[in-house]
Formats: sequence, C-alpha cells, structure tokens
Amino acid sequence: MKCIELDDSRKLPEGAMPDDAVFAFDCNPGVSCFNRCCHNLNLFLYPYDVIRLKHRLGISSDIFLERHVDVVLRDSCYFPEVLLSMAELPDKPCPFLSPSGCSVYEDRPEACRMFPVEQGVIYDAASGRSRKIHFFKPPEFCQGAREQRQWSVDAWIQDQGAAVYNRKTQRWSEVKYLFQSDPWAGEGPNGQRGKMAFMAAYNLDQFRDFVFGSSFLKRYKMASALREKIRKDDVELLKVGLAWIELFIWGKPSPLLRPFKK
Ligand code: SF4
Ligand code: SF4
Repeated sequence: MKCIELDDSRKLPEGAMPDDAVFAFDCNPGVSCFNRCCHNLNLFLYPYDVIRLKHRLGISSDIFLERHVDVVLRDSCYFPEVLLSMAELPDKPCPFLSPSGCSVYEDRPEACRMFPVEQGVIYDAASGRSRKIHFFKPPEFCQGAREQRQWSVDAWIQDQGAAVYNRKTQRWSEVKYLFQSDPWAGEGPNGQRGKMAFMAAYNLDQFRDFVFGSSFLKRYKMASALREKIRKDDVELLKVGLAWIELFIWGKPSPLLRPFKK
C-alpha cells in the first residue's frame, strides 16, 4: 500500500481512479498468460498477510519469516518492508505457485487479491485524515485487461474477499505512516527498539511469548478479556502489537493498553 501525502487531499494523484470508476477485467485458467503474473514479483506482505499465510502453512511466524521473506529498508521510510521471497528457479516463481495455480488461494496476500488494482492511502497533512485510492495497473502481458467484464473497485474487492485485508492494511498504514519520520535517535531500525517494533507487527508468535513471558503485563494494563483473547487469537494480538508500537515508540495513547503508573 502506497502512502501519499498531499497538501490538498481532494486532488487525486496521477493515474488514480475516481471513486465511481469502472474497469474491464477477467482472469481465468484459460488465458494464455495464466500464472505469468505470479513470477519475479516485488510482493509486499503486510502483517495480516503473514498471519493468514503462517496459519495456512501451519508454521510459526518465526519460521515463516525465516523461510519466506526478504526484509528491506527503503530510503523514504524508517521501518523495514517485508517482501515474499521468490523461488530460486528460472523465472523466479512465487513459492506458492503450483501447476494448477495458487496453492494458498484462500489465504493469498492482499496484493494478489487486489491485482491488477493497486491500493494507496492519501494523507491530508492539514486535517490528519486519510482515505483510500486505487490505481488500475495490469502489466502489458495481462490478457485479463482485454476482457469485457466490468467492475467497480468495490465490486472487485468483494469478489476477491479483500475487504477484511483492506481494513487491516489501512490500520497498518496508519502506523507505518508514522515511520516517515526517524524515531530511532541514531540507533536505526536494527537497534533494540526497532527489532521490538518489527516483532510486534510481523512476528506475532514471538511477540506473544514476550507479552506473557516478560514483565510486559506488569508494565502495561490491559482488559482481562483481551489478555485472555490474545493468548490464542493472532488478529487481536496484532491490534495490541500495533497499539504498543504507537505507544512505546511514539507515545501515542491507546484504549487497548495503558502504562501502569510508577
Ligand atoms: S496476467 Fe492477468 S490475466 Fe494473466 S493470469 Fe495474471 S491476472 Fe490473470
Ligand atoms: S501467493 Fe498465490 S496469487 Fe500470490 S503470487 Fe503467489 S501464487 Fe500467485
């Protein structure tokens, strides 16, 4: 998800689709380009993508990150990006691509669901408000864009089961947006605080061990119902993780957890 800051959020960036835009697209196993778009990708994974994929694969977040991702730092951001590693094979296929298509289809990442639509968030610096925008960007080889079936963005999101992903990613983008400023006071994102923040967003099994195995619950007050929920529920734990990043890095208060008074 792109974060775009504009002085006037009523203006759309170049190429963005108006809210009522309709695009023509259809994809099915009969197209000559079937699966070509699942090769050699810069496929960004967001925290909710990792939850869905690690459950699908039946592995811990630790192992998922070790086996399946590359972590990179872009110039414009002080928080690392997580990309799905492509297989070390000719044409670099996605590791989840099988001869019959996507082997993790029901849990495929948000970017795959939305494709060939890309989603971004516009931040209006003056009001502090954000809103989603979309771009229709099929690659040249994509035959689907030559089909006649018409979609609004909303209909596409519903059809692809992307609404829940969109909501989670919009929340993540609010946190990520904060990292356009450098909070690390010289130690960089690979310092201790940076590693803790990365864990709270992407390595939830490790974060759970940290919450229940350290002095965390002596330092932060959390409703007992939520405390019990996050023992097993990764989606709830992610909410706590993101709130904690905002609190301990940026000092932003949260209704989910409050520091105990010293
Ligand atoms: S390139 Fe386009 S039409 Fe071809 S498989 Fe991918 S999404 Fe479908
Ligand atoms: S996760 Fe599935 S849809 Fe996405 S690139 Fe891999 S094989 Fe293709």
